[in-house]
Amino acid sequence: MSPSIPERTTPEPDVDPRPTVHDLVVNLTRPPLAQRRFWTVQAMVVGLFIIHLATVYSPIHHVIPVADSTLDLLLFIPIVYGGAAFGLVGSLGASLTGIALTIPMQLLMDHPASEVWQEWAVLTTTVVVAIQVGHHYEVERRQRELLRRAERTKLESELRALRIDAEAQRALARRDALFHDAFANNTSGMYLLDRYGHIVDVNRAFCQMIGRSEDELLGRSPNGFRLDDDVAAAEEHRRRLISGSVSTVHYTTRFLHRDGRVIFGEVSAACLTDEHGEPETFVVSVRDATDERALLAELEHQALYDPLTGLANRTLFEDRLSRARALIARDGGAVAVFLLDLDDFKGVNDTFGHHVGDELLVQFARRMERVTRASDTLCRFGGDEFLYLAQGITGSYEEVATRLLSAVHEPFSVANTTLEQRVSVGVVIVDDDTMENEELLRNVDTALYEAKRRGKGIVVRFTSDMYDQASSRYELLRDLRTALGTDQLRMRYQPLIDLVTDEVVGFEALMRWQHPTRGPVAPDTFIPLAEQTDLIVDLGEFALREATATAASWVVGHGRAPYVSVNLSSNQFRDPNLLALVDEALAASGLDPQRLVLEITERAALADTAQVAAVLAHFEDRGVRLALDDFGTGYSSLSHITRLHPHIIKIDRSFIVAADDDVASRALLDAMISLGRRLQLTVLAEGIETETQLAYLRGLGCQIGQGYLFAPALSRDEVATWLAACASPRWASRETTLATARDEPGHRYAPGAQFSQTR
Ligand code: C2E
Ligand code: MG
Ligand code: MG
Repeated sequence: MSPSIPERTTPEPDVDPRPTVHDLVVNLTRPPLAQRRFWTVQAMVVGLFIIHLATVYSPIHHVIPVADSTLDLLLFIPIVYGGAAFGLVGSLGASLTGIALTIPMQLLMDHPASEVWQEWAVLTTTVVVAIQVGHHYEVERRQRELLRRAERTKLESELRALRIDAEAQRALARRDALFHDAFANNTSGMYLLDRYGHIVDVNRAFCQMIGRSEDELLGRSPNGFRLDDDVAAAEEHRRRLISGSVSTVHYTTRFLHRDGRVIFGEVSAACLTDEHGEPETFVVSVRDATDERALLAELEHQALYDPLTGLANRTLFEDRLSRARALIARDGGAVAVFLLDLDDFKGVNDTFGHHVGDELLVQFARRMERVTRASDTLCRFGGDEFLYLAQGITGSYEEVATRLLSAVHEPFSVANTTLEQRVSVGVVIVDDDTMENEELLRNVDTALYEAKRRGKGIVVRFTSDMYDQASSRYELLRDLRTALGTDQLRMRYQPLIDLVTDEVVGFEALMRWQHPTRGPVAPDTFIPLAEQTDLIVDLGEFALREATATAASWVVGHGRAPYVSVNLSSNQFRDPNLLALVDEALAASGLDPQRLVLEITERAALADTAQVAAVLAHFEDRGVRLALDDFGTGYSSLSHITRLHPHIIKIDRSFIVAADDDVASRALLDAMISLGRRLQLTVLAEGIETETQLAYLRGLGCQIGQGYLFAPALSRDEVATWLAACASPRWASRETTLATARDEPGHRYAPGAQFSQTR
């Protein structure tokens, strides 16, 4: 159906300066023409009759002494023209004419005219009558002409009006067609509502938009396809249109697609009125903004949520934290901010790959959701760190903390792997609004650091003295930068003893820092600090150059010269300059590459096995060997070990200590040593402190031992003196030398814990 067009403008007809048809017609028809003619003829007949009588009976011949002909003429003129005048005013009525003519008629009858006068009278009467008749017909002719012109003009103007109307109709039809075309093929959904709000026409786009056919929609209210919550608002907009307070309305509404999807429509609607100004049709256009909305929502979500776990991100968390603080400032109360960190998460990532690490994070996030309140905020702060903002804390945070820790009680099952995971937690209680977010987050981070330092898997609440510790860590890092290149940093060398021959086969190079005011700082303290920055690369370079140079100077009387074992941090192992650095250090020192062992922790070695294997292949080519440090503490994977082909595995001290009284640890130790031997690796046991441990390890077939039982880390001079003095560097034969050796004060080696001198 075609919609009606709102304002229909009729073109103005041309203005005609001539008398209008109406004027002409009115003038000619009043008084009636037929009546006028009748009276005119009647008057003329009477006039002729009078003249005839006058000429015959005129009494004037007797009273006026003039020639008859002159008299006749004098009489004739007024009588004839009087008759004509009577004829002209005949329209006044027959009675008036009758009365007016009676008197001269009587006079004429009394005085008959002469014959000459009669002839003149007849002649002039004939002329007058002829003129009258001629005049009459001329008038009639003109009247007819006028009428004809009038008719023609009327006809023309009617024709013109008709033509104009037809053109307007055609223009309307064209506009209708255009409108309908635009309506039907519009990419926006469109529908027309009647004054009662029922759909009277709908286009294809709208049908597709909400997945309904035209038949389903026609005659129904669009509210039937709208979400209930949006009906009232849509009706309100329609009311505004009806009231005429606005000409168009724009609003967003939600339709329900047949398949259940919610369609976001951006609606523009206008109201068309009829000739009385009453609302007649509503033209409604709907743009499908669903995808756009989804995209916006997605962007918004991305801006505020962590894509991996779906938890809030840092931005959202900080916003919630600010609000919580504002509430505390207003209403009092307290909130607790927990910072959770998955212990040794990096090991999982490094060992099993990032997809396993990611899945573990997701599973952890889901478990966290189960043990926390939905109204509180859980956030992935970054990496393996999560924040939890617990509101309405009444003082005791322990209960919440216990719940948080319980999330990791059960092992995780990720990609067919069972992972035991622990989590360390730092807490800050906020009960006033004196701290900004930044300071709060720094404090909770400090508390977490403390939890990690104290042994992992525990919860530590922030206290102000921790702040001092944290700042002291930053100071330490600053001092470490300046220490590099001064004699504050030195290398020490701890002997590695062949457990079969008792000979010293090598030394592990260990770094020592003598701080000018703090005294000795343990590597367990400063190495992790340095690993947080690029400083570790510089420290590593220093250790490598120093150790290779020192080892090159070691000479022994006979037998093989001992090797030097240098620790590499995982950051160094990823450093593309590592190979060049090793080559350079070897070249500069002149050390036989066979006498260099590089130690990397098991986790670092397994981080990126492909890359590590490539680096190792280069070392292999040069004859440099690799030792896997702290073996057993990472997520060991036999396949990785077989691919990496390390030369030495260094079993972590914790296994040696535990083996003293724990059967299970002994079994583990046993397994590790036999594994190493089967893989034809050299097995080294770290941290041997007692004879019992030594005997036990020997019994298991462990080849190399390291520990305070033999010697602590020695200075370069001590090693040199000792090596120079011994023909065969058997540790037991050098007991005096080693017994006097002391690790630096403050180092964990206790001066009294010397090796046994029984051998
Ligand atoms: P590590 O590589 O496992 O070194 C062995 C650690 O065990 C050394 O601690 C050593 O002094 C200690 N140790 C040896 N025997 C015994 C023993 O019988 N009992 C006990 N309780 N401890 C023993 P240190 O020197 O404090 O080094 C700690 C860690 O710092 C090292 O562990 C190593 O990971 C790291 N480190 C030390 N120097 C360097 C270095 O130059 N570069 C790198 N990247 N890391 C280093
Ligand atoms: Mg080591
Ligand atoms: Mg170690």
